[in-house]
Amino acid sequence: MPIVRLDEATVRRIAAGEVVERPASVVKELVENALDAGARMIRVEVAAGGRELIRVQDDGCGIPAEELPLAVERHTTSKLRRFEDLAHVLSYGFRGEALAAISAVSDFEIVSCIPGASSGARLRVRFGRPARVEPVGAAPGTVVTVRDLFATVPARRRFLRQDATEVAYIQRALAALALARPDVRFEFIVDGRMALATPGSGQLVDALAGVFGLETAAQIVPIEPVPHDEVTVTGAIGLPAVSRANRQAFFILVNQRWVESRTLVAAAEQAYHTLLMVGRYPIGVIAVQLPPERVDVNVHPTKREVRFADERAVAAAVHEAVRRTLLAHLPEQSPPAVTFSPLSPPAVQRRLLVADPTRAAPVMTRPDPEPLPVSPIEDSRTESDQRLPILRVLGQIRQAYIIAEGPDGMYLIDQHAAHERILLERLLEELATHGVEQQRLLEPLILELAPSQLEAFERYADELVRLGWEIEPFGGVSVAVRAVPAVVQRSIERVLLAVLDELAAGGRGTTPLEQVAISTACHSAIRAGQELSLSEMRELIRQLEQCRAPLACGHGRPTVVHLSTEELERQFGRR
Ligand code: ADP
Ligand code: MG
Repeated sequence: MPIVRLDEATVRRIAAGEVVERPASVVKELVENALDAGARMIRVEVAAGGRELIRVQDDGCGIPAEELPLAVERHTTSKLRRFEDLAHVLSYGFRGEALAAISAVSDFEIVSCIPGASSGARLRVRFGRPARVEPVGAAPGTVVTVRDLFATVPARRRFLRQDATEVAYIQRALAALALARPDVRFEFIVDGRMALATPGSGQLVDALAGVFGLETAAQIVPIEPVPHDEVTVTGAIGLPAVSRANRQAFFILVNQRWVESRTLVAAAEQAYHTLLMVGRYPIGVIAVQLPPERVDVNVHPTKREVRFADERAVAAAVHEAVRRTLLAHLPEQSPPAVTFSPLSPPAVQRRLLVADPTRAAPVMTRPDPEPLPVSPIEDSRTESDQRLPILRVLGQIRQAYIIAEGPDGMYLIDQHAAHERILLERLLEELATHGVEQQRLLEPLILELAPSQLEAFERYADELVRLGWEIEPFGGVSVAVRAVPAVVQRSIERVLLAVLDELAAGGRGTTPLEQVAISTACHSAIRAGQELSLSEMRELIRQLEQCRAPLACGHGRPTVVHLSTEELERQFGRR
């Protein structure tokens, strides 16, 4: 085929593919335009997953009638004059492509009115072909209506998923934008029903409640900003009790712009290490502020990715902020999870209840529900969903699981995972205070190590010492064990070799010290297959109740399975 110049309509449609991938990208571009226009209120309406209809209405500055035809052309923008301005752009848009792209692949209409004008103007563009601008009566602001998206691009249309999935994408985009701009009121209407609404109060707490619902928002705590050279991290993150099975409820904002950043998400997730089970992800919003010239926003047509001048520094600041916030909000000591009558001091009554199963009856009555906190975020410190309630031990199953009754149903506890969690927290606590408690052996224990074990011993020598292991080379492949961490109660040889094997295989944990701690806790813990007496089980549960994060072991496996009273009743057909 000879080379020809493509006609304008074809060029537009090809270019549209880059900006408009699916209904959610249309919504994102239109809402960003509304924000750039200074809107205080943005209302988004969709029908049939956005395929039939997307409408975005704002009360922003509007577009003068004579500029409307220009607005829908390519590379037309009011936000940038020279390439040099790019380094300082604070507006969401700057490429001047969105309206051109959307109107090229839909039946598009824009109605706009600038404040003080006697009337507004309307421009319809059907699949790239603009009609004439007509005057219409309109309120100040802009309404963009997009119908039959991709009707002329069958390949794109086929690629769209079910309505509910497309709505979920749109909702995620809107949630991110609403969290980025708590000062703007957002409404999202799906097939006539309100799906999301934020009040525009300027408070992140209120935006969180609108996005996540009051109950979940009560488990989300603010990040106290600590300026880090040029980077400041704010936002709010969910306590481990409100994790999700995917990453859809976690948002990264960079200078109020919603971006995808695997590095920053990973940095935040790492801060939850050992607090969330494997396969669970945190929720929340991380807002990074840094000088505009330290971040390049023009690396992606939809501006979904950014490039940092120093990505590692930003990731470190995120990690630090999340970790610090989590530690500040995990319960310090162990207040009982169940509220007691003020007549007897909680600690005493608690011990009685645990020690004597026949006295456990009072625990069965649920405490009065707490009044709904006025400001969910401030109050969440006293919430303790992570906490175990007081449990009455009933027995052991398969010499592996402890069965217990709590205020709301039945609890199954994995005895090994639970003990591992207890020992891990004890080791970390000792490390952080007076050092790990040690037990000296009367006679050194001489062991022969496999080459991989010997290598792990050398590589982790410092960390092993800090965790209470005193081991010396003893010629050839032998070592002499002189002291062990006090948590190692039995089978020293088996425990040490298992620890070295795990470390040789890479270990688990974010730092070498954590790896040694997790491994030591795991292999010192009682194992499945060990029969426990009732009092041993009670002691184990009591210690688990004291843990800061009792619900997962150091490896992230669950320690507790809970079957609520409601669930039990459902299972037996009582509900
Ligand atoms: P960009 O946002 O990159 O400038 P767009 O194609 O999204 O490009 O929009 C083109 C121009 O149309 C914008 O620069 C702006 O001047 C105007 N515009 C678009 N949407 C709105 C709106 N909702 N309110 C006011 N002006 C708008
Ligand atoms: Mg734009």
